[in-house]
Amino acid sequence: MNCTKCKTKAVIKLPRHHAAFCKGCFTGFVHDQVAKAITSQKMFGKDDRILVAVSGGKDSLALWDILLKLGYKADALYVNLGIGTYSERSQEKVRRFAEAAAAPLGATLHRHTVEQEEGAGIRELAQLVHRPTCSTCGTIKRYQFNRAAIEHEYDVMATGHNLDDEAARLLGNVLHWQEEYLDKQGPNLPASVEGFAKKVKPLYRLAERELAAYCILNGIDYIVDECPMAQGARTLLYKEVLNRLETESPGTKQTFYWGFLDKQSRKASASTTMTEKDQAVLHPCATCGQPTTAEVCSYCKLMARAKTPSAS
Ligand SMILES: [Zn+2]
Ligand SMILES: [Zn+2]
Repeated sequence: MNCTKCKTKAVIKLPRHHAAFCKGCFTGFVHDQVAKAITSQKMFGKDDRILVAVSGGKDSLALWDILLKLGYKADALYVNLGIGTYSERSQEKVRRFAEAAAAPLGATLHRHTVEQEEGAGIRELAQLVHRPTCSTCGTIKRYQFNRAAIEHEYDVMATGHNLDDEAARLLGNVLHWQEEYLDKQGPNLPASVEGFAKKVKPLYRLAERELAAYCILNGIDYIVDECPMAQGARTLLYKEVLNRLETESPGTKQTFYWGFLDKQSRKASASTTMTEKDQAVLHPCATCGQPTTAEVCSYCKLMARAKTPSAS
């Protein structure tokens, strides 16, 4: 098997693109896909300051690496959730990448430790408020990333969601006709109101295995295990189903998700945009000032309940 581009020995085959690449051409292909995502979805420009949400996993570290190599101004935020050795090991991967690859290019790593700021690890917090760990984690991460982006005046927040993540989420939303969520499934969510950072997903054109290959070929050491608290059984099932379809007919995932984006962009000009809908329902949280649809945002409700467990 030879590289489609340069005809030397290929190291990876990409059936959905009818291509195979050597290490150099594959790295170039990955960079091109991200560059295409950024420009076609008008995510950000070379002067914008970007905050990447990093977890220590392959997707977010690859994203930080690619943005820096493409010449963007990208810093990162790591949230330590206090999940025993898992958090320690993932923090160590992030720290090493930051030191060796990001710092030399002038990029900064911000860190937030849930045990210090929220007063307990994620498991204890979830128990105190009688909610699943993953939803508690989601509430805290969303809040802290948005807060960091606003406080440090970043123009945009970037997350490492890939094609597999977005296609699985889309399948779930379609199966249950969650139209409200469908509206927010694009890779570019504008800063609809004051106090909300713009959010983008520059990896939506790349599959999970392509990002794993990118990390391995480029010497990026990442944490392989999933978070031990992750339930997400349904998401995993959707991913499995999509992988079976992909094996049978390569390109299914991208046809599904990119096709959805196409339809969405044509619809957006005709109907009320998401920004307008958000502006109509969001206002500042009475406690912290971040935008929310309720009187008090879900993060502040969580923290209030964690402090008075009997009231839950
Ligand atoms: Zn090549
Ligand atoms: Zn609040």
